[in-house]
Amino acid sequence: RRTLEPTVDDLYDGVLKGDRSLLARAITLVESNAEHHFQKAQQLLQKLLPKSGNAIRIGITGVPGAGKSTFIETFGMYLCSLGHRVAVLAIDPSSSLSGGSILGDKTRMEQLSRNPRAFIRPSPTAGKLGGVHRKTREAMLICEAAGFDVILIETVGVGQSEVIIRDMVDFFMLLVLTGAGDELQGMKKGIIELADAILVHKADGANKQAAEQTRKEYNRILHFLHPATKGWAPKAYTCSSLTKEGINDVWNVIQSFEENGKTSGVLNERRKTQAKEWLYSMITDQLQFHFFHNNGVKNALPTLEKEVIAGEKTVAKAVDTLFTIFLG
Ligand code: GDP
Repeated sequence: RRTLEPTVDDLYDGVLKGDRSLLARAITLVESNAEHHFQKAQQLLQKLLPKSGNAIRIGITGVPGAGKSTFIETFGMYLCSLGHRVAVLAIDPSSSLSGGSILGDKTRMEQLSRNPRAFIRPSPTAGKLGGVHRKTREAMLICEAAGFDVILIETVGVGQSEVIIRDMVDFFMLLVLTGAGDELQGMKKGIIELADAILVHKADGANKQAAEQTRKEYNRILHFLHPATKGWAPKAYTCSSLTKEGINDVWNVIQSFEENGKTSGVLNERRKTQAKEWLYSMITDQLQFHFFHNNGVKNALPTLEKEVIAGEKTVAKAVDTLFTIFLG
């Protein structure tokens, strides 16, 4: 029976015991788009909820090629060597938009994926970004209940997904490359303002000096921006995932961030705010889902759309008509 369809209790026990195959199946369950899986997934999550919340949640972003996979491999292996248990989750915005993937395969995290202290889960693919967001959050809670004390959530820096990750992690860092001058022109100030730390990555070999220059450049800029977290001044650091130089400093920074945030209460406040915002964003998602799946709405919408496009009906009037149908 177990191999066919584990019960909620099977999954609950398996997750708490750190059984990797049941952990993977629990995440598959919450990622499922099938309606009949929803109730079961929520029962499981409700049971696991009191066991979650004990990890430091870290978000990592950067443009393709910034070295995110390599960094996570090196950083993750380092954390495992310190005795931590590391779960790596990903949000791939491209998969929900185009069905393709720009995060790429995770074959480069070769060592980490074989490490018994680590668990790597690729981005959920199907569905809207809002759905991917929910699934990643729920996967994070399950991993926490399974005893992972560091959660790394990776995304490609393309705009929308950074904000989503910022809203589900404690600490958010941005991987950048040398040449701040050029890069900063292309990078939105808003994204830098989300970061608790900026890592000038690939600071090795011939690139080391330039990386140091870039670090100073970012620090000058950060000085004028709003900090993402109350009571924490974000700074830029250099590191290399190849030589491993600076990797332990990244962890030290995160630890002092956590210590500060716990003492001041800022971290606790952030998680409360995040839970509240998650509630409202799920309400919005559900409303949207039910609205667009309503048969009356589905029937009336094409005509109303044509009338609005042709300038025959005001948008407000069309919306009003649709809501009368939806609520009626
Ligand atoms: P991602 O697209 O952000 O996940 O980047 P990858 O991890 O795939 O890395 C892109 C390229 O940068 C690969 O060829 C890596 O070998 C290289 N790379 C990653 N980290 C470093 C580093 O610390 N130093 C150097 N020199 N190269 C790196």
